[in-house]
Amino acid sequence: MNIGFIGLGNMGGPMAANLAKAGHAVTGFDLTAPCPEGVTRADSAAAAAKGADVVITMLPNGAILRAVAADVIPAMQAGAVLCDCSTVDVDSARAVAEQAAAAGLGALDAPVSGGTGGATNGTLTFMVGGTEAAFATVKPLFDIMGQKAVHCGDAGAGQSAKICNNMILGVTMIATCEAFALADKLGLDRGKMFDVVSTSSGASWSINAYCPAPGVGPTTPADNGYKPGFAAELMLKDLRLSQQAADSADADTPMGQLATALYTQFVEAENGRGMDFSAMLPRFEARGRQD
Ligand code: NAD
Repeated sequence: MNIGFIGLGNMGGPMAANLAKAGHAVTGFDLTAPCPEGVTRADSAAAAAKGADVVITMLPNGAILRAVAADVIPAMQAGAVLCDCSTVDVDSARAVAEQAAAAGLGALDAPVSGGTGGATNGTLTFMVGGTEAAFATVKPLFDIMGQKAVHCGDAGAGQSAKICNNMILGVTMIATCEAFALADKLGLDRGKMFDVVSTSSGASWSINAYCPAPGVGPTTPADNGYKPGFAAELMLKDLRLSQQAADSADADTPMGQLATALYTQFVEAENGRGMDFSAMLPRFEARGRQD
């Protein structure tokens, strides 16, 4: 396939490289990031999109996605598919899909989980919104860049799945960290705490696979000085998107709201920026009871 790839940063760079390695003709564009090996550089986003069967975007946020989409949609050939893999707000994903459909193009919102390791190793999970036909076109590319692609529903369904998942993740990580900090203060051994909770009803991915306590359970960013991993500010971005979506859908999400407030405080006022999101544990450890 001819593929245009716009946004060649930490995630987009290795994803584009994997498509090129698999034998696809990839033309890339980024404002600053270098083109990875095997990818041909274009002078603009529109130039990268021209003549492509699929245009993939991997950009920082919804405002940038909307601007890039306005640029590339008129340059795309009829029947091509615009596939956005960034994490953006549901409203932007739907607006871009509508614009693409009006121009006779397919569109998918296909955010990922798996982080930069997954992007490099081709083991991402894609959660995808859009038509069956557009999904079928891009599926072979998802299979190269990732290990799983779930078609979640119509436009916006991929972003909806992503932010709901990450809202659960933010909440369970905070709950796990505050429980470890309480266990410490009750004199409970962390290894025993892990053994019990990871096989009891308090279990979740946050403790079983990503244990925030160093030296306990699997090897995680906690064992590496809380170097990310999944940075606290990226968790905050996703939590904010979940609350933006909850506002526009009139959904009551008190735990998501509280998790957003705690990560905001951690990132903006407590030096949490650049730390893994599981560094909530040392944060709680250092605090006493708040009234
Ligand atoms: P990044 O900042 O490394 O890459 C974004 C790239 O977009 C940058 O290279 C930037 O120069 C480029 N860009 C910005 N505006 C542009 C424009 N107008 N035209 C062309 N290029 C432009 O970010 P990343 O870590 O690669 O993340 C990309 C997206 O993936 C984000 O939406 C993020 O939330 C999501 N995501 C990231 C991770 C992760 O672990 N890094 C995991 C899952 C999802």
